[in-house]
Amino acid sequence: MSDGGVFQFPVGDVICIAIDDGGYDYQPEAFAFGPHEQAFVAATGQRGAENSPIHTPYTCLVVRTPQHLVLIDAGAGWDPGNGKLPARLRAAGIDLAAVDVVILTHGHSDHIGAATGQDGQPTFPNARYVMSTAEWTFWNAEHPDLNHTPREFAGLLTWFAHQKLRPIEPQLDLVDGETEVVPGVTVLPVPGHTPGQLAVLVRSHGEQLLVIADAFTHPLHVPHPEWTANVDLDPAQTVRTRQALLERASSANALVQAFHFPFPGLGRVRRAPEGWTWAPEATHGGPA
Ligand SMILES: [Zn+2]
Repeated sequence: MSDGGVFQFPVGDVICIAIDDGGYDYQPEAFAFGPHEQAFVAATGQRGAENSPIHTPYTCLVVRTPQHLVLIDAGAGWDPGNGKLPARLRAAGIDLAAVDVVILTHGHSDHIGAATGQDGQPTFPNARYVMSTAEWTFWNAEHPDLNHTPREFAGLLTWFAHQKLRPIEPQLDLVDGETEVVPGVTVLPVPGHTPGQLAVLVRSHGEQLLVIADAFTHPLHVPHPEWTANVDLDPAQTVRTRQALLERASSANALVQAFHFPFPGLGRVRRAPEGWTWAPEATHGGPA
C-alpha cells in the first residue's frame, strides 16, 4: 500500500518500508551531461524544452530484519519540499532511537541530511552509521574534487557534508569492500557517481532486493547506462558500475530499488535485444 509517502513490501521475512522524503527539480544536465543531454531531453518527451526542470523524488528505505532495524539513507534533512523522513518514520510507528544501523550510501546532501538534526546531534542516537572508508575520506577533505559539479553547488555540498558527517564520527562504522552489516543485509561498493558509493543487497528466503542508490538516477539510465551526469564524479567508472549492476540484478531477477526513480522506486531489470529495460514493479505491498 502506498499511503502518506510510505510504502511497505516484503523480501522473504524481511519487511521493507520505502519512505518518501520529498524531492527537488533538477535540470537535464543533472542526468545526462555534455553530448548526451539532447538525447536525454528528447527521450523524456521534453524535446524543445531543454531547460525544463525534472522533478526527482528522494526515497529512503527502512529494512526490518528479524533482529535489526536498518535505515538506508537519511534524505535531505530540510524543508521546504523535502526532509520529511524523520516525521514519516514517527508516523509509521518507527522510534528513531530503535534504528540500530544507518547506511549512508554516499555523501551527497540528499542522502545525509537527517544524519544529524538541527541541534547538530545524531538523529539516530543508538545507531551505528555505516559508510565506506573511501566515501568518508573523500567528503571530509577540506576541498573534495567535485569535478564537473557546478562551482557554487560544489561549495554547498562540501559545507553540508562537513556539517552532517563530522558529528556522527563517534557512531561511525567504516567498511571496505563487500561487507555484511547485519545478517541478510550486505553493502557492495558501486563507485563512479562518488568514489565510495555503496549499494545494499537484502537477502531472505531466496528473495533479493538490490538497493542501487545513485548508481542510476533516472529510469532512462537503465537502457542508456552510458548517459552520465555532471554530478557523476568518474563517468567511465559510473558506466562500468552500471553494467555490473545490470548484470547482477538481471541474472538474480532481483527486485531493485532506486533512490531517485518514481516513488517507491521499485522495479526489475530485464534483458532486451539491444541492452536493458526497466520494468517498474506493481506496488502491491501491505499496509505500512
Ligand atoms: Zn548522489
